[in-house]
Amino acid sequence: MTQPSTAGALHLPAEMESAIRSAIEPAQSILCVSHVSPDGDAIGSLLGMGWILRHLGKKPTLALADKPASDFNYIPGFDRIVGASGVADAYDLIICLDASSPDRMGAVYRPAVHSQIPLLVIDHHITNTNFGSLNWVEPGCAAVCQMLVYLADGLGAPLAGNLSVALLTGLITDTLGFRTSNTDAHVLQAAMRLTDGGAHIHEIVARTLQSRTYAGLRLWGSILNHAQLDKRVIWATISLAQRKQASAQDGDGEGLAGFLVSAKEADIGATFTERVNGGQTVVECSFRAKRGFDVSQVALALGGGGHPPAAGCTLTGPLDQVAAQVVAALQEAHQKQTAAQKLAQSQLSSVGNGAHG
Ligand code: 5GP
Ligand code: MN
Repeated sequence: MTQPSTAGALHLPAEMESAIRSAIEPAQSILCVSHVSPDGDAIGSLLGMGWILRHLGKKPTLALADKPASDFNYIPGFDRIVGASGVADAYDLIICLDASSPDRMGAVYRPAVHSQIPLLVIDHHITNTNFGSLNWVEPGCAAVCQMLVYLADGLGAPLAGNLSVALLTGLITDTLGFRTSNTDAHVLQAAMRLTDGGAHIHEIVARTLQSRTYAGLRLWGSILNHAQLDKRVIWATISLAQRKQASAQDGDGEGLAGFLVSAKEADIGATFTERVNGGQTVVECSFRAKRGFDVSQVALALGGGGHPPAAGCTLTGPLDQVAAQVVAALQEAHQKQTAAQKLAQSQLSSVGNGAHG
């Protein structure tokens, strides 16, 4: 019988396991944080880490700079997440989840007081800058919640109850319900173990991916109406005025870049969302790419980060100007990637011709 493709390929490496154990075991006070504008993987991995640590007898503080959407309040422990005001100056250890660079932690991480504290980074972004004193970065994992399945195994925390609900949330939201190109046998195996532990895929999908407000749908309608398409890049801007007109909330534009890139005529989708952040107007840029294209490098070059099929950055400047500049960069990347694909194909076919000719 052939070995299953999942055999032993992804796990917490033994050296990393002992380094993480050595960091956690002596720590009395632990702060866990994730990224600004928290998504399902940020919230799920934060709460999941909290349950793993509690299993080890710790009482961690779980913090997010931005208030998490109430959609996620079904995850046990949600009400105990604190904001920046609930974060003290001194901890024995800080654990940062799902953030590719320190700025992504926002106001919950204050370098002036926190930079002397050991920092354990657990992340799956290929663009991670390894900014921790200990970094476990696994771009082969579809979600940090998948990594925490392996961490729970390593630290002896049973994948059941509260922990399974938290971790299945990030697995489902980061893979858009097991539909992204990185959804492989390992992801499905992790999900199977979490469902075995008592979490329900249909309930989590209903609470996250399939839950929208009427105002949000109206916003999507108005945005889709003026989406633009050129050189296989499709994009739309979302202004403060449009959100106000639709009575839409902050998170209501989420998922739109992924919907835009479903257009057959496009390979890359982007949304540009105008926001006021600490009195300053910023533009949140969200990119999605079809299989075979990579938007992470454009995001990285603009000071952001992400994964080849999903990345983003935050820029300052007038909405339309930012959108025009970034779209040009995406079109250029698309052109280069298409040329590289064509070259690779022609080399492959000439090798093929040689072999048979
Ligand atoms: P989304 O478009 O869902 O906000 O983000 C897609 C991916 O890009 C996520 O993995 C997210 O972490 C990353 N990302 C989005 N915005 C930023 C940003 O401003 N900075 C960095 N470093 N990554 C970002
Ligand atoms: Mn993630």
